[in-house]
Amino acid sequence: MDAPYHRSITTQALGEWFSARALQVIIAANLSLDGLVGQLLHPEYHFDDNAFAAGEAFVQARRAEVRPWLEAGEREKAWRAFGKVTHAVQDFYAHTNYVALWLGQPDKKRIRPRLRLIRSARRFCPVPNLSLAVCIIPGNC
Ligand SMILES: [Zn+2]
Repeated sequence: MDAPYHRSITTQALGEWFSARALQVIIAANLSLDGLVGQLLHPEYHFDDNAFAAGEAFVQARRAEVRPWLEAGEREKAWRAFGKVTHAVQDFYAHTNYVALWLGQPDKKRIRPRLRLIRSARRFCPVPNLSLAVCIIPGNC
């Protein structure tokens, strides 16, 4: 996904929840995953090449870093970890056929997301319409 899309989605989803400075750090971390090394050597950052398990592991590992960094008073490190989560989650929807499959289902309300990534995010999000990017941090919704 191109940088303007990552920037726009992240800003729309998180802009009202984070300060301008935090959002800047989150977006920079988000975009950092599309650097040359990230593009060539880390399909898990982008859910490319069927790297579903590795992508989910990457998201869960970065998500697990957020709370400890916050509790340690290291907000920028927490924001960077969260920014990487937003990138991978955005790429999940953009780089996989999840949305196409979901749109092709006759009764979308009956379809349950199959990835543990989505199930685990939903556990933390009792608000049905809140974006996954926001819900990925426990206690944020
Ligand atoms: Zn990417």
